[in-house]
Amino acid sequence: MPIRENTARPEVLVIGAGASGTVAAICLAQAGLSVTLLDKNESPARKIRVTGNGRCNLTNLKQDPACWYTGGRDFSMEDLGAFGPGDLMGFFEERGVRFHDRDGYVYPRTDQASAIADTLIGEIRRLQIPFYGNTRVTGIHAKKAPGGGFQVFAGDRSFRGDYVILACGGMAGEAFGCSGDGYSLARSLGHSLVPPVPALTPLPADRKRLKGAAGVRCRGSAGALVDGLLIRREEGELQFTEQAVSGIPAFQISRILTRALEEGRSAGVLLDFLPEYDKEALEKEAAFRRTLPDSMTLQEVFGGLVHPGILRMVLGDLGLQNEMKKRKISDARVLEILEGLKDFRLAIDRIPGFDRAQTTAGGVPLEEVERGSFRSRLREGLYLTGELLDVDGICGGYNLHWAMASGYLAAKSITERAGL
Ligand SMILES: Cc1cc2nc3c(=O)[nH]c(=O)nc-3n(C[C@H](O)[C@H](O)[C@H](O)COP(=O)(O)OP(=O)(O)OC[C@H]3O[C@@H](n4cnc5c(N)ncnc54)[C@H](O)[C@@H]3O)c2cc1C
Repeated sequence: MPIRENTARPEVLVIGAGASGTVAAICLAQAGLSVTLLDKNESPARKIRVTGNGRCNLTNLKQDPACWYTGGRDFSMEDLGAFGPGDLMGFFEERGVRFHDRDGYVYPRTDQASAIADTLIGEIRRLQIPFYGNTRVTGIHAKKAPGGGFQVFAGDRSFRGDYVILACGGMAGEAFGCSGDGYSLARSLGHSLVPPVPALTPLPADRKRLKGAAGVRCRGSAGALVDGLLIRREEGELQFTEQAVSGIPAFQISRILTRALEEGRSAGVLLDFLPEYDKEALEKEAAFRRTLPDSMTLQEVFGGLVHPGILRMVLGDLGLQNEMKKRKISDARVLEILEGLKDFRLAIDRIPGFDRAQTTAGGVPLEEVERGSFRSRLREGLYLTGELLDVDGICGGYNLHWAMASGYLAAKSITERAGL
């Protein structure tokens, strides 16, 4: 009698070999499932190599629901299924990676993103996970019979799977394969879409007004103004280019402003270069600066307080220059200059491109997947993970954490359903 092959082990197709898909595939293969990994890039984990400016900020020791945004409902730690930073670090530590943290921001000890990407690739090889590179998935057909599985199409090739994990990312980083394909694939299977907008991006503003500050890095805060109302404020190192306000505080508020613009509302940024000063302290500072000699230039009067480029930008708005003598301005103007340094507003009148964004706000609504397992509520056998979903983290390792945690939890759910 011929020996029948054991066909009981489900086949899993993972579409997208980025942060989420690679972790999912490794966990599945390790649990003994048959898994195939597909990506339109030649090799897995390509984008991971450029994360954190080449250092990869993998996760963050401080975790709180406010570190992630989602459109439909509040984000809850249950969405992460209790998968914390220790779990993610543990996944890599078991495979030899060591970490260090700066104020909670976790990086590989080597400060090399390649330590993370190479570990994932090494595991894919060691576990002999079939990887199909240069394979762009263009269609998924769900078989009608319950539990009938899926046929996945990529050019003239097709793949069969009992389960599909859709881990195609969003639209941030087109050079690394992310151009929103996952959205049309998810929609073809019945899912909906919160319109994607760029997040964690510099804020493009009026070049003429920014000119004086181009190249400056300084401490300060950036506030998101929507229809003139201050929505959120972030403090830290601000950076200026000829056309944009950048740095972590600008990145953190960018998704609020791009979403506002997308909804046709007005968006602006309130820059405060003296965040530690309240009204009283500002008036005291003005009183002191008025006592400085009239022969001083404005640069000399205010140069010990703020960067000359910032002063140039703020004075420019008031029709003044750094080189002007103090005697040319009234006492009232001294306070006006300090107020300008504390409340400098720029209109953000265009949505920055996805090419400058680190992540995508919007995507498949979180309500359409089961909490903590990432199982589709609409299509049996389908899982959706990572940036493809309508979740975006703030700067600090929260996006890679989300992507990898969701990949891990989807794999866990499939493994449990397979009874392994
Ligand atoms: C420059 C930059 C720096 C960043 N730095 C950090 C950081 O330090 N810390 C942090 O937490 N986050 C960082 N991020 C964000 C983080 O990289 C992403 O949030 C995360 O990689 C998302 O993981 P993912 O698996 O969902 O998607 P991705 O990692 O984007 O992977 C998706 C994969 O799907 C593939 N794919 C897409 N469509 C198809 C298709 N049709 N067929 C086959 N394959 C397809 C893509 O080629 C890609 O490999 C950074 C992002 C950028 C752009």
